[in-house]
Amino acid sequence: MAEQKKKGALDWYFKSNLLTRILIGLVLGAIVGIILGFFPSSVKPYIDNTKFFGDLFIRLLKMIIMPVILFSLIAGAASIAPSKLGRVGVKIMVYYLLTSAFAVIVGLISANIFKPGIGFNIVGEASVKGLQAAPPTIIQILLNIVPTNPFESLMKGDVLPIIFFGVVFGIGISYIKDSKQQSLAKSGETLLEVVNAAAETMYKVVGGIMQYAPIGVFFLISHVFAQQGAKAIGPLLMVTLSEYIGLAVHVVLVYGGLLTLYKLSFRKFLKGANEAMVTAFVTRSSSGTLPVTMRCGEENLGIPRSISSFTLPLGATINMDGTAIYLGVCAMFIGYATNQPLSFNQMLTVVITGTLASIGTAGVPGAGAIMLLMVLESIGLKVETGSAVAAAYAMILGIDALLDMGRTCLNVTGDLVGTSIICKTEKELDLSKWK
Ligand code: ASP
Repeated sequence: MAEQKKKGALDWYFKSNLLTRILIGLVLGAIVGIILGFFPSSVKPYIDNTKFFGDLFIRLLKMIIMPVILFSLIAGAASIAPSKLGRVGVKIMVYYLLTSAFAVIVGLISANIFKPGIGFNIVGEASVKGLQAAPPTIIQILLNIVPTNPFESLMKGDVLPIIFFGVVFGIGISYIKDSKQQSLAKSGETLLEVVNAAAETMYKVVGGIMQYAPIGVFFLISHVFAQQGAKAIGPLLMVTLSEYIGLAVHVVLVYGGLLTLYKLSFRKFLKGANEAMVTAFVTRSSSGTLPVTMRCGEENLGIPRSISSFTLPLGATINMDGTAIYLGVCAMFIGYATNQPLSFNQMLTVVITGTLASIGTAGVPGAGAIMLLMVLESIGLKVETGSAVAAAYAMILGIDALLDMGRTCLNVTGDLVGTSIICKTEKELDLSKWK
């Protein structure tokens, strides 16, 4: 009897809808976290004892990132004409740049309305430790795209150099495949088949990992809420609100608007992108979510791998609309909180540096907070030890996990919207998935 019950529960777990399970994990995790937050002494032991379950989910996802990117990119680039790849590349870059710039503006407008930090009059006290990493210059960012050693980049998990190498490798295979020398052409075909099979295998593994997602999600979210939930319900509530309202506006106006413009259903999009959005929310990492993003694109949104294998890893690395909104909101907050509200010119500067900073932000938890330093620097708000700006910055860092969840979710959503639209314009989208 007990045996049967156990089997029933397991059956339910594996047979019920994955998204429903993930959402249950999310909601329960948030509730448990908030309740624990009221008993501060219980938070640390809880996290110490359950950290394993959240970390396991993140490690499983990380394990699969590099193989997924590499194999699907090589296979993708080998099966698409170089001219088409170039066209898709230009289109997606234009989309990524424009939406990011627009996102900073959305953040600035939202903060102008809610005025987070006004009347705080922070004076210097806190110091900021450990986040003084200098942001890279544009030239450095561009040059770093070309790997000096692709194997090293693979080992270090650097996405952009691997995209570069994967595309070059894939194009190489497509030439070998078409070689006049028959034996060479045959080996090219075989190599492509092997790479294709490897990519397929990786997708199967992602599917397996996702079965664990609801449990991982539950623990990850409960940890964040237990540690930070209460803090945001204080003076920092306005920052959190300004960011989240900015994010919501961007999703509805920009993504909803663009999809509708290209005659794609916004509702169907949200349904298809759901798993990736929730995973991004809880892992706070665009790169970590990449395997799930690619799976959603292919399985739910009808995006062919030849395009998604290129545009999605690229987006996970350079397209960060959520981070852009966050940068706009936080720059405004720090200005208000330290009694030096931003002038219009400073806001214009934030649009430019915020867009560039979001491009340079790595798709890992907390990366946006480092780029915020660059944006603040560009408008003369220096985070120097003991200064008021440093104190305000430290306050934001205190709730970074909460801010990071929303912005990462938007970062990933933007990549899928852009890729869907570009595929539609290339007549490559499987529209049956959108019916
Ligand atoms: N965590 C974000 C991401 O992975 C980056 C950020 O910190 O803004 O997309």
